[in-house]
Amino acid sequence: MQARGYTRWHPKKRGRLAVTILGCLLALVLLAGHFVLAYGLPSARALSADSADSSGSLPVLATGLQPLTNAGAFDLPVQVAKTTDTGFLQLVNASHPLSSQSVPPRLVTAWPTVLASDHSTLLQSTALQAFSGLFQAAADAQVGGLSVNSGYRDYAAQELVYEQTTNKSYVQLPGQSEHQTGLAADIEICDAGQSSGISAAAEQWLVGHSWRYGLILRYPAGKQGITQIAYEPWHFRYIGEPHAWYCWEHGLCLEEYLDYLQDSGGYQVTLGATTYYVYYEAAQNGILYMPRSLDYEVSSDGCGGYIVTAWE
Ligand SMILES: [Zn+2]
Repeated sequence: MQARGYTRWHPKKRGRLAVTILGCLLALVLLAGHFVLAYGLPSARALSADSADSSGSLPVLATGLQPLTNAGAFDLPVQVAKTTDTGFLQLVNASHPLSSQSVPPRLVTAWPTVLASDHSTLLQSTALQAFSGLFQAAADAQVGGLSVNSGYRDYAAQELVYEQTTNKSYVQLPGQSEHQTGLAADIEICDAGQSSGISAAAEQWLVGHSWRYGLILRYPAGKQGITQIAYEPWHFRYIGEPHAWYCWEHGLCLEEYLDYLQDSGGYQVTLGATTYYVYYEAAQNGILYMPRSLDYEVSSDGCGGYIVTAWE
């Protein structure tokens, strides 16, 4: 294999080639020198704020993004094994199923924090708080009373639902349902004891406001080719505020958003009084790099990578 490229070149061209290579190397050295002068020695990590100098020349998280300000360094090595994985951004779909043993942490009953058609309905506590905030805002905005009609479903429950559902376009095989994460809920309008589906007007309001509570409409119209799930105006999933904002602002479904994070490296955004720093990490030798001076949380993406969300 070593000689394959070399033997393709004619020997008489080697002299000219050597000059060309030397020229390229010189250009590379000059270019590298320029970057070292401008940004300090580049680390192995794409995201590092500690090379900021006093001239205002700050590195950016990724191409086209705003410079980091006062965010400190993002280079604290932490073992994956010692990291708490929230799972808030874990992709669950036909290509990324959960095992039959997978049970989420912090499951709590949804009722009476929110209305629920079944008082034994469970959700992860963080997701429940998010739905509670959304439902309250919807009531205040006269959108209507909202209720959860399906929350956490374990593997066996999903098996039953799948067997009993005739139209399979709205039901996933066991292990492939987000309901097994405890982060997703099917919601409906429930006014004066009467339940009804999510109207187009209610959906429009929900889509525009749910990101503030970290929730996304998980299976939007027009994304079926990617999600492999038909449009579901009732199914919302908790992923966290900056992520839900990004999906809403850019019209991305979760699959597209996770691809974007891996490709771009990350972004920063200020929402209200909070500035978020979001970046993708591929654990190298079991190590992730965390912010040194910010609060943060970590979620696996279900595809082998991790998303770090830091804020100040
Ligand atoms: Zn659902």
